[in-house]
Amino acid sequence: MIAPAAFEELIHKLAQRGIRLIAVSKTHPPEQIMALYRMGQRAFGENRVQELVRKAEALPGDIEWHFIGHLQSNKLKYIAPFVHTIHSVDRLSLLSDIQSEARRHHRIIRCLLQFHIATEATKHGMTLPEAVDLLERYPPDAFPDVAISGVMGMATFTEDMEQVRMEFRALKAIFNALKVRFFEELPGFQEVSMGMSADWPVAAEEGSTMVRIGSMLFGERTN
Ligand SMILES: *Cc1c(COP(=O)(O)O)cnc(C)c1O
Repeated sequence: MIAPAAFEELIHKLAQRGIRLIAVSKTHPPEQIMALYRMGQRAFGENRVQELVRKAEALPGDIEWHFIGHLQSNKLKYIAPFVHTIHSVDRLSLLSDIQSEARRHHRIIRCLLQFHIATEATKHGMTLPEAVDLLERYPPDAFPDVAISGVMGMATFTEDMEQVRMEFRALKAIFNALKVRFFEELPGFQEVSMGMSADWPVAAEEGSTMVRIGSMLFGERTN
């Protein structure tokens, strides 16, 4: 677990650039989340539906839960009542399912469009042409109970930080292109979710507004 002084320093560095920290707590027990909660952290990220639901039930109600993993539509109903932001919207069918669930629960669900910026084929996400095609057919107001608030991406898992930098720069360019074309009048489209433990300083330099950091806070994951 990160020491309080180191945590303060991280938060301070991020705040100087206007970046929010999403503490990625996947695989870590509720006590560890509470340790960070007591240091003031409120936004946590999880990538499995069941684990997220269990933790949300057990932990304080003012935690803002971010879903960052691949999401199957049939599991959406479990998190729809409370999830703050879904970072991993990579297809039209998911977007329209989120719309239905948000409407059913009388709430707005924030979403980020996930883009494939890495070289690994295993990582999910759309391409810019796919997103443009989607938004041309279904402009943002086609989903009145969904707030499309920005983009998300994961860089290639590599030590080559120049490659990582180019990928983050590409995601920022995608954000700008969509902003100009579809969201100019919509100030809520403002988030660029990029940067993890190994690459967050590069993401910060390339215009991240949200970093998703796990192992640097909680230690290495064992499963
Ligand atoms: C696990 C995960 C993270 C955090 O990774 P760390 O290397 O532990 O900081 C960030 N984003 C996504 C989508 C993840 O699955």
